[in-house]
Amino acid sequence: MLCWLRYDASMTARILDGRALARRIEAELAAKVAELPFRPGLAVVMVGENPASRIYVRNKERAALRVGFAAETLVLPASTTEQVLLSHIARLNDHPAIDGILVQLPLPSQIRPQAVVEAIDPAKDVDGFHPLNVGRLDAGAPAFAPCTPLGIMQLLAEADVALRGARAVVLGRSLIVGRPISRLLLAADATVTVVHSRTRDVAAECRRAEVLVAAVGRPEFVRGDWVASQAVVIDVGINRLPDGRLVGDVAFSECVDHAAAITPVPGGVGPMTIAALLQNTLRAAEKRRGVLPTHQ
Ligand code: NAP
Repeated sequence: MLCWLRYDASMTARILDGRALARRIEAELAAKVAELPFRPGLAVVMVGENPASRIYVRNKERAALRVGFAAETLVLPASTTEQVLLSHIARLNDHPAIDGILVQLPLPSQIRPQAVVEAIDPAKDVDGFHPLNVGRLDAGAPAFAPCTPLGIMQLLAEADVALRGARAVVLGRSLIVGRPISRLLLAADATVTVVHSRTRDVAAECRRAEVLVAAVGRPEFVRGDWVASQAVVIDVGINRLPDGRLVGDVAFSECVDHAAAITPVPGGVGPMTIAALLQNTLRAAEKRRGVLPTHQ
């Protein structure tokens, strides 16, 4: 058994411990960064005072500093115009010490997210949302893939989940999670079904999954009887209940008895998203500064 998998005899599913794997990845990154003749630089931009975004941004900045990056967080007032935000992005695009730029979503309604995403230099687009990176990922060409899907693929790889020919069902088709993870699973030769709000029988589609990725944004949406025996379940959801508890998109206690493996919430996909951001930033830095060829 791999050391990052926790096993509890009272449960049948392996718990895919994203926190432990992310910690290991961070240690590897820190060792690499210590050997570099430069400090990779990450800029995180946030507009407004969304409390959840505040926490995400703070966690990203802390992780970047932990591995030895230079990190700059820019918090702009909620009234910021699109033009002002774009001028900050232009400055960061030109800044020689900045290798990765991330604009925390959501943005206030006066700012078009697509205009912002398209303004980021694709070579610094460590979130992988720029159309050039989206298109390259779709074409199977080297690209910055979005961090959550990248983190999920590493969880699956570490758990030795055989993806070739496997029936994978992705619940959700967002640009951030559903679509890109479906592309990465396809690139790994899985047979991929994408399920969304207009799908006729969501439960029936889920039951066919050998690998089920739930990214729907609804607390405990996936019930125990939607999950096939011995399926691998990746729960992307982060939902805060009125009583303060944090739950995923999967009813964990109903699935853990018969799934082969499952990610917990918290401590599954979330930490891996941050680890993947750090990996993307290091890769961007190495490409920009000539350590890696630009086509990789
Ligand atoms: P999103 O943009 O709201 O997309 C949700 C998707 O679920 C949409 O494609 C939607 O279908 C589909 N959907 C909604 N209701 C449905 C239903 N009743 N039946 C079937 N499909 C349904 O959400 P997201 O950004 O992908 O995020 C999903 C969840 O992951 C959220 O809880 C979010 O907080 C979490 N998240 C976690 C991380 C992490 O690091 N762990 C990162 C990103 C997101 P339509 O397209 O038809 O509307």
